[in-house]
Amino acid sequence: MAGLFDEPTVSFVQVAVERAVDRYPKGLTYGVPQSLSPIHVGQLITVPLGKGNTPTEAWVLSVSETSPTLAGNKEIKQVFSKNALTISLPEDLVSLASWMSSYYCAAIGPTLSTMLPGPVRKGIGIKTRTLVNLVMCPPNDVKLTKKQQYVLDTLAELPTNDRPIGISKLMKLASLGSRGPIDRLSEHGFLSTHQVTNVEASWFKQNIDTKEMPTLTDDQSRIVDAISKKLGEGYSSHLLYGVTGSGKTEIYMQLIDHAIKDGGKAIVLVPEISLTPQTAARLMGRFPDKKVAILHSALTKSQRHQQWAMVASGEADIVLGARSAIFAPVPIDALNIIIVDEEHDHSYKQDLTPRYHGRDVAIRRASTAKCPILLGSATPSMESWWNATRRNISTLHTLTHRAPGLTLPKVEIINMRIARAAAHGVMPVFSRELELEIQRSLANEGQILLLLNRRGFAPWIVCSSRACDWMMRCEHCETSMVYHRRKPLEEVGFVRCHHCAKEQRVPKICPDCTKPVIRLGAGTQRLEAIIRETIPLPSNQIARLDTDTTRKISDLHDTLDRFTRGEIRVLLGTQMIAKGLDVEGVTLVGVIDADTAIDLPDFRASERTFQLVSQVCGRCGRGSREAKAIVQTYNPQAPAIVLASEGKYEEFANRELRLRQETGLPPTSRMVRFVVRDDEFERTAGRADALYERLLSIASPSIQITPAAPCVLTRIADRFRFDVTASATTARELQQFLEDARQKKYIGNNRDLAIDVDPVSML
Ligand code: ADP
Ligand code: ZN
Ligand code: ZN
Repeated sequence: MAGLFDEPTVSFVQVAVERAVDRYPKGLTYGVPQSLSPIHVGQLITVPLGKGNTPTEAWVLSVSETSPTLAGNKEIKQVFSKNALTISLPEDLVSLASWMSSYYCAAIGPTLSTMLPGPVRKGIGIKTRTLVNLVMCPPNDVKLTKKQQYVLDTLAELPTNDRPIGISKLMKLASLGSRGPIDRLSEHGFLSTHQVTNVEASWFKQNIDTKEMPTLTDDQSRIVDAISKKLGEGYSSHLLYGVTGSGKTEIYMQLIDHAIKDGGKAIVLVPEISLTPQTAARLMGRFPDKKVAILHSALTKSQRHQQWAMVASGEADIVLGARSAIFAPVPIDALNIIIVDEEHDHSYKQDLTPRYHGRDVAIRRASTAKCPILLGSATPSMESWWNATRRNISTLHTLTHRAPGLTLPKVEIINMRIARAAAHGVMPVFSRELELEIQRSLANEGQILLLLNRRGFAPWIVCSSRACDWMMRCEHCETSMVYHRRKPLEEVGFVRCHHCAKEQRVPKICPDCTKPVIRLGAGTQRLEAIIRETIPLPSNQIARLDTDTTRKISDLHDTLDRFTRGEIRVLLGTQMIAKGLDVEGVTLVGVIDADTAIDLPDFRASERTFQLVSQVCGRCGRGSREAKAIVQTYNPQAPAIVLASEGKYEEFANRELRLRQETGLPPTSRMVRFVVRDDEFERTAGRADALYERLLSIASPSIQITPAAPCVLTRIADRFRFDVTASATTARELQQFLEDARQKKYIGNNRDLAIDVDPVSML
């Protein structure tokens, strides 16, 4: 490229290549030519990279006036161009990305790109329109046609507020068949033209819930007072532990009200699943004259761009969104409060690099914005409970009673070992007790929620012979194949792997012993089939919610809406139904199998079970009618199940923390997990061992490292998996260790190694 760098350089920028892996961790320096000056921190620009000067997109990390000293007297290349859309992230988000990049061991370029929604990045919905206006001194030596004169007269009669005006609108007002007369007028200098660029999106339907604000209970007011006192006083962290239906959302709304007075802004994070139109409706109904931006994956691309732009311009007062909404470009000085609802929810953790935790990033963002952060949950994560009750770095606020008019459901544990014995050894889907309660609820016009945290029709295909232990496994993963029916009430089906999504034919006979095969166990599809066959309800009053029925997020919203309106009588599904539903008509919750998580070889198995059982049982008893929850389990004595059904969170949490402390597990320690992936078993094992040795060689005595071992899911999609974990008492020690390992190039996130800091899943 000739004449590439012949303009004088006026300043310097440090950039991070957008798609780079860890190769350029500290950023690269480029000169800014006069014609592109000024360039700001947070802009996306194009720079020449490598020997071939390949045009490459990069984020600006910092700007300096003076030339930095480069090692080896290297020539400083110049920036090629600014991104045509001049997208930029505010400076505080660039620093947040730097922190994330170092804390989560992720390259900074891709981290910055994670912050920007795809539609914004691609400029979807951006339209440029031309507006015209009358000029102050029109020429007096040009003869006008009748039509042209009419255009000028029409414009002159418009109220000044309506000018400048779009060309098509003016054409309509002046009854023009073509824009010719307007173009002539501007050529001759009678009209001035302006270009405006904005994001145009179709309006989206959003109901507004105008339910009146209830009078707060004493407990609620006390908490609102305590936290609102902290507004404007810098960073503070709060944990709101309130049983399901205790009125946490009312507290959020009161605090938002205080925080957005005088132009302040609030960010509210909810799990993606809870991000239903009802949540938005409730918020919008409470603040009718404020702007609420919703960062929602059910919106169209241009709508998402538009909502983001509304935040960036400072127009939005409240931002409501899932995990990534923590990156909403709210002006930092105006950000007055961050609220993370259902803070225990695992969907806040991203399972691709950067593997960040939305709640923890929110805490960081609040501390830099110097504002309070409120984490709320009926079943706080062990991390937050530890921080509030042992480390005292967060203030605990408690709501022990349900809101006035709501009752806590009666919970009954059913021992399925007895049910199995009664059914002569066959594992029944329903116990007698649950069957009776379903009939009773239906007779009393109640609504029913049934939870089964397993998709498909039957989770296992096995040999019918007791002497044979053949089970159908995925050819590419170390997992069982799950049987799915095409339709719940039709026999035809296929088997699918839930890890790599590959499908296979079902063999009729066992490949080992030629006995017939059978389909064992029940998933949501079989549950649906049983319900449809045994309950005399019209088919549209029964619905199933799981990731198979909600490929589009709008399907999820639609089903939840119909359930809320009472049109669906029986809703069954996976953990999706355990979250955020606040429906008065629910008189029965049935947990078909409380044990789906309990036996997982993951130290959070118990915590997850407790959360799931408490959350789903909490979905009933929200109206005036009596409500009941039935929990079916083969572990009727397991503390997670017993304490969840008794509503004893604190007892469970303290017990669990004691166990974690005895075994040195998070949150009493900080952990990083390295997952080594490769195509061959031996090579994977060898690389994992080598990684372990290297890590061991730089570990100080305060770092505990576990030797390499095959992961619970030993193989996924033909890739073998081994893991090594490292733990330390404090995050600081662990960070120092990671920094050392990164400097020595022992670790780096790539296809063959996943680095997971503060992992939430150990499978
Ligand atoms: P949570 O978020 O803890 O599940 P919500 O704030 O959604 O609880 O409250 C549950 C229900 O109780 C809602 O319908 C809400 O309007 C109602 N509610 C909350 N606080 C009060 C109160 N002080 N008086 C009467 N009803 C209330
Ligand atoms: Zn598979
Ligand atoms: Zn067999």
